[in-house]
Parts: sequence; structure tokens; C-alpha cells
Amino acid sequence: MRFPLAPTAKIARHIVKNKLQGNKKFAMVLQLEPLHTCNLTCTGCGRIREYSTSLKDLVPLDQCLAAAAECDAPMISICGGEPLIYPKIEELVAGLLGQGRLVYICTNGVFMRKKMREYMAAVYSPEIEAILVRLVAEKLVTEKEAETIRNPDATARQKVVIRPSQWHYWNVHVDGLEYTHDLIVEREGVFKECVAAIRMAKHLGYQIATNTTVYKETDTAELEEMFKFLSSLGVDGHTISPGYDYDAAKKDMVKRLGKDPAAFFLTRDLTRNKFRDIERWGDMFTIFGTPGYLEFLAGKRELACSAWAVPTYNVRGWKAPCYVMTEGHYKTYAEMLEKVAWDRFGVDDKGCGRDARCENCMMHSGFEPTAALSGGIRDSWINFKYNFGSKPPAFPHTAALEKTAFNGVTIGKGHLAEAKAAVNRELSGAKSAFARGGNDIPHAHGAEEGTGGGCSTGDTSQRDALLAKINLAGKIEVKSE
Ligand code: SF4
Repeated sequence: MRFPLAPTAKIARHIVKNKLQGNKKFAMVLQLEPLHTCNLTCTGCGRIREYSTSLKDLVPLDQCLAAAAECDAPMISICGGEPLIYPKIEELVAGLLGQGRLVYICTNGVFMRKKMREYMAAVYSPEIEAILVRLVAEKLVTEKEAETIRNPDATARQKVVIRPSQWHYWNVHVDGLEYTHDLIVEREGVFKECVAAIRMAKHLGYQIATNTTVYKETDTAELEEMFKFLSSLGVDGHTISPGYDYDAAKKDMVKRLGKDPAAFFLTRDLTRNKFRDIERWGDMFTIFGTPGYLEFLAGKRELACSAWAVPTYNVRGWKAPCYVMTEGHYKTYAEMLEKVAWDRFGVDDKGCGRDARCENCMMHSGFEPTAALSGGIRDSWINFKYNFGSKPPAFPHTAALEKTAFNGVTIGKGHLAEAKAAVNRELSGAKSAFARGGNDIPHAHGAEEGTGGGCSTGDTSQRDALLAKINLAGKIEVKSE
């Protein structure tokens, strides 16, 4: 099976229960954002800009748990911001698991090893010692860290920790191989840390998923290599989605200057071209999702948007109408369901946007649930076949694959310090995307009211400028398709 039986059965029961109750709109996945603070400043991340005035705010633990209970989604994706910065993250995961939900922690991976060391200290035993020896041998834990794990004090022993469970996935953000990923997150070494965290997690028996956003400049051949590498590490499954590329300024430019939209953003045609291999990838790799959504991405069918099925709850409440676009926030999920004019959003039968901002959107948070909830015979059959069919075998881990993956700072081709200097020279004082990176302090961006945006929304305006500047500086070769 692609996806473990118990969670699959739980999700199926949830759908049947709601359909029997005659509920036309209900939640499948809650995007829970307990905070928007982040230790990184990824290019294109809309959250740290849209919520720049509330970066220090937190949703209290009991409120997070109450939101999950109210919408009753069987799956919770804890995102942000970086959720591992949330002070009560362990209690939040424990509380959601206690409610019987499947919990994904969407993380940039930087703090994962710390959280797993805390787990090892809390449960230290001869069995853990055997794993610890291997982790030290593979340099995933230092000797000093191993000693701390072996000698936990009372606080470490009693700490609530995130334990391996079939109801929990680490969901690690990876947008490319080392060079590309570090460029997108604007920090050298993050890819290497993610890989170390994945390796450590697999030794400890955690389930790992990865999530990847595809941008206009994403090289799909590189993505295939990335999936092979991640598969060789034992990653349990992958989610992949096109970025959201609405930007009023770009649209205005197209209108006024008569330019080709494809020159500015990921249109539906471009997205379909990017995802032309997605069904083949579905056979090669454990892509999580529905075959109906993969057909939609490949341009073989249309789907309506069901944004109500993947609601977002954050410091301001229930964000409407969807994960990427903001028209307001509501106090309860029920109020949001009732008050939002859902038929104003999404696409019509011909795939045209009902709202201009929906025109190029093919994000999984809007369209994946439509395929999952379709009661049609064909969709039910292909969903069943895809999920219950055999899981694609892991790719063998080879030195060649490792060499392909670590194509950036590991082999001396780190770009950030070099490019930062170049950009600073070029711009003599202007704030560049690079100029924001490089430390652990959360950054406040200028608010961009009304543009919505989300974590990895695909708003590529910053990165487009960034790549152009790097090219201009002539310092490094920038990949393009
Ligand atoms: S089509 Fe996309 S942008 Fe529009 S409401 Fe649906 S998810 Fe949001």
C-alpha cells in the first residue's frame, strides 16, 4: 500500500460519515499555523510578508486543539512559520494524536535533529543506545550530544517529546537538489541538514514525507533526480504542488504592456507542461495524493476548487477563502463555511477563474480534495487502485546519486556569500532577498495587503529578481529549462 491502512481507513470513514450526514462542505485537512515566526526567509514565502505585523504572535495551545476539534479534519498539517519554533509543539502534537488525528509537521528540517535528540534522551534505553552508536558513527549525532542523551536529567526525562508513530509524519520541505534548495531558502547548508535529519529519523523509526513546490524556473529533470535521491533515503512519500503565482503587479504589466503572461508567471499551460511527467512519477515514486489530481496537473481533466476542505487556522482565525488568498478571517470554521460566497472562487467548467486570482491556481490545497471527494465510479476505482496498489520500491542508494544530490556548498559551489557580496555591490545599499538571509532572527517584511500568499506560494517575484541579479553579477550559472 502507498499509504498505511489505519490512516487510510480513518479518512475513508470520515468521508462516508459526512456524506451520510448530507454535509456538502467539510474539512479534510486542517492547515494549522500556530505561529508565523520562522528561522529562514525563503524566497517567495508569502506568510512572513502577509503576517509581518504578527510574527511574534502565537495561537495558544488550547485554541489550536479546539480548532482541530471544531473542523474535525482527520489530517492536520502543522505549518507556519516554522512549527518547531512553537514553544508547545510537543504538547500540540500529543494533543492532536490524542484526538485521533493524523499529524504532519511541515518543517524546514533545521530543528528536527534537536527534537529527535530530545526524544532519545527522554526514552533512553539499551535499544536506543544501539541506534545511538550508529548515529554517532554516521556523524548524525556528535559524541557530546550522545553523552547528553545517555545522561538525561529529570527535566529531559520528563519532557513531552515527539515520538515515532504511524499517525505522525515529519513533512520536510525540499524544493530541489542542494544548490537549488539552498538558493530558494537563502541559506547554505539547509539541504545538507534536511538530509541528515531524514537519515536520523529513519534510523529512529519515524515516518517521513517531503513537500515540494514547483516554480516557473523549476527544472523538472532535477526534480526527478531529487525524488530518486529522497527515495533512496527511505522517504515514505512525497507531496508536490505548483506554486501559486497571482500577483496584481505582474497582471497589470501584462495588460498594459501587452506582454506574454508566460514571461511573468506560472500559467495553467506552463504548470501542465511542468507536470507532464507527474503520472510517470506516480508510478516511480510514492507520490501522496490522488490519481485524479495528478491527471489534473498533467492537463488531462479539469477539477473544481474545494478550498473549504483544506481550511487554514492561524493567529487571526479561520483564513478565507483559502490557504493562499485572504479576504478575511473568521472566528469559527462553521461561520467561515456559512459566510464565504464559495461560488465566487475557483474555476468554472472550462477552467476559467471565477476570480482573477484563481485563474492560474492549481494548488493541491484547492483541487486535491475535489479528486479525493469525487463519488464517481471511475474516480473511486482509480483512487482505490492507486492507494491499495503496491508501493514503488525505493531507489538503491548509490555514490552517483549522492554526488548528484550534493551539487552545491558541499562541493565548494556555495553561492550565497558570493552572490550576497555581488548583489550588495550592485545595489549599493538596496535591500535584496539575500540581504535578509543568514541568521536565525525572524524577519519582518513589508506587508502586502490583499495579495494573500502562503508558505511556498510560488510568488516568484523576489526570486526572479534574485536570479536576474545573480546572472547579472556573472558569478554563477543559473539553471533554466
Ligand atoms: S482556485 Fe486557488 S486561489 Fe482560488 S480559491 Fe481555490 S485554492 Fe484559492
